[in-house]
Amino acid sequence: MDWHNKEEVKKYHREYMRGYRQEYKEEVLATRARYRAKYGKVLAAKARIYYATHKEERYAWQKAYVQNHRGQSAASKRRWASNHPDAVIAASAKRRARIQGAILEPISLEAVRLRDKMFCGICKKKVKEQDLAFDHIIPVSRGGAHANWNLQVTHRSCNAYKHIDSLPSQIRLAI
Ligand SMILES: [Zn+2]
Repeated sequence: MDWHNKEEVKKYHREYMRGYRQEYKEEVLATRARYRAKYGKVLAAKARIYYATHKEERYAWQKAYVQNHRGQSAASKRRWASNHPDAVIAASAKRRARIQGAILEPISLEAVRLRDKMFCGICKKKVKEQDLAFDHIIPVSRGGAHANWNLQVTHRSCNAYKHIDSLPSQIRLAI
């Protein structure tokens, strides 16, 4: 290790920090969350100003990034999605709820699982992980809120039946 070689020292620090972040993942995430909670609004405002005044650079940077990470980012997105199934479900449910103009509250699918003890809210039987679906008790399409108290654990099949039942009969026949 040559401590006079800037590049080598930089590399050393980078690896060290990477190791640190891996070893103290929880703490690092907690610190970041605290920081965001405290300075999030300030940072967002700064970022907006920066974006507005550096449009050209940003587009050039984005373009380069997308081109350089094409395969990679798709693969890492997929990897992330398969490691965080609840987050994927939550994000798509939230998107749908927002589109339909539902009341949105911060939700925790983990809390819904725990509250329902993995029993189906429709047939009242135990739900296995692979059969799990989260259901809006009052459907969002009928003004139901996207909130923990309006969500329940169900079987995928029970959930699907419920939605077929709630369709007008002509459409039901078509299915
Ligand atoms: Zn069920």
